[in-house]
This record gives sequence, structure tokens and C-alpha cells, in this order.
Amino acid sequence: MNYRVGIGYDIHRLVEGRKLFLGGVEIPYSKGLLGHSDGDALLHSIADALLGAAGEQDIGELFPDTEARYSGLDSKELLKSVVLLVNKKGWRIANADGVIIAQEPMLEPFKKDMRRVIASILGVEADAVGLKGKTGENLGEIGRKEAIACYATVLLYKGE
Ligand code: MG
Repeated sequence: MNYRVGIGYDIHRLVEGRKLFLGGVEIPYSKGLLGHSDGDALLHSIADALLGAAGEQDIGELFPDTEARYSGLDSKELLKSVVLLVNKKGWRIANADGVIIAQEPMLEPFKKDMRRVIASILGVEADAVGLKGKTGENLGEIGRKEAIACYATVLLYKGE
């Protein structure tokens, strides 16, 4: 068996007048994540973890925010194309694990849906997707509800 591990990180600014998307799920909140795409920092961090593990360029290089065709992009589509790229190189996904750091809103009620959506895109069972919600402990830009950050790791494997 051949294994590769990858790590990803992303942070987006929280602003009024945008819908909040995390893990491919729309979450009711007064603000949303600013971005060229839908701003889904969790899916972006998972995509970068996959690309890192596969030895590919990061999503900023593959999906430049200077390109109009990626404006308002559904990040689920972005993650799907990254999974395809990784699979084409012969890698399969063992599991993914993520952390969302958000002072607000409460993410607990949405975690199950997020795990289900992510698992279906990655082609793994829902229990192969871990997800932790943390607050910013009222510290820094996350604690002031100005941003949400996410970390993710993935494990890829080749072989039977
Ligand atoms: Mg991003």
C-alpha cells in the first residue's frame, strides 16, 4: 500500500449581504463568507488537503480568483473536480478530518449534513469524515465574528 497525507487551511471574512456556506450546506446566519466563489472555507481547506497529498498545485492556482468563470462558484463543484483530479492520478481517499473555527453561528445542528455532503463528494462513508466545531474563544478576528477559518487533513491511498 502507498499512502499520502495532506493538510489544508482557509480563512474568509464574514460580511453582511452574503449567504453562509460551510461544508456544502447553507447555514442560516446574518452574515456570509466573502469570496470570489461561495466562500466555503471548509470545502476549500479539504480541496487543498487533497491537492497537497497528491502533489498538485493549490486551489488558488487551479481556480484563480481573477477568472470570471469562477465567480460565485459552488465550492461543491470545485471539490468535485479536485476529487476527480486526485482519482485520475490513481489515489483513493481513506478519510478526511476538519476543524471549523467560528465564534458564531452554532454549527452543531449542521454537522451531520456537512459530513454527509462531504462524504458523498469524496466517495467515502460518512464516518470517514470527521468534523469539529470550535469557537474563537472571543479572541482575534474570529472571536470578533469578522472571519471563519478551517483546517483539514486527508489520507490518500493506492493499492487494494
Ligand atoms: Mg477560500
